[in-house]
Amino acid sequence: MMWASGNAMQCKVCTRSDMAKAHLFPRALAHDMRRSERHLHVLDRDAQEVKFSQSGLHDSELLCAGCESKLNIGDDYAIRWIRKFERHASPIFNGRAYEVLNPHPQRLALFVSSVLWKCAASQVTSKDLDLGPWEYQLRNGVFDSSGFEPSFFVARKRWLVGGKQLGSVAILPYHAPAWGRRSYAFEIGDFLWGVKLDRRRSHAPGLFDGPLKATGNTNLIVLNLGEVEIGDDDSVLGIFAAAEAIRCAAGS
Ligand SMILES: [Zn+2]
Repeated sequence: MMWASGNAMQCKVCTRSDMAKAHLFPRALAHDMRRSERHLHVLDRDAQEVKFSQSGLHDSELLCAGCESKLNIGDDYAIRWIRKFERHASPIFNGRAYEVLNPHPQRLALFVSSVLWKCAASQVTSKDLDLGPWEYQLRNGVFDSSGFEPSFFVARKRWLVGGKQLGSVAILPYHAPAWGRRSYAFEIGDFLWGVKLDRRRSHAPGLFDGPLKATGNTNLIVLNLGEVEIGDDDSVLGIFAAAEAIRCAAGS
């Protein structure tokens, strides 16, 4: 890319020019997933291509150091929450879900919001992720403490290839219109994160409200999607069925 003289790179949020290396997924999660492997596989569902990376994708033309540091509180919280999940979560509803504490729900919402916003605003990903007018709302929620939090749910999911557990897969945010017009999902840390930005009623009752609602919830119910063969993946249908089972079991 060419830059005219005097036209330095600017933060997409505040226009300062002391740029930071903004990781689209927190670097620590990328390292956790990579373990002793040489590379992390980063999938882009829209592009149908796999990128290889050692510490996850990052963008050095997105955020200044000050704005990037505002994301730490959400990232650090999500990293700890994910790392402690195995120890702290209790299976419920015959193993179809887990119950786990989430003492600072705003921090988890910040993590979800910032991952989605960074991926939408970054030029590093192969295809534009269009959040429409909600990109602005999301950005204000992340950087200006506007109070905006998206609706979201969390699901445990592990990938298999040919019946064997696949070590580490992160999937960049993708549009999930089956749940609603402004609905998106991404995967990191053996979890799928489903996000809905608009206020319309979801096409998937029970995913973003009722017992699975993660927004503002200190006692999370996390769907257990089990192990999914990567070739057979139809996340949307599987998640509909699982959410319906939880709704029935919870009587809501
Ligand atoms: Zn900035």
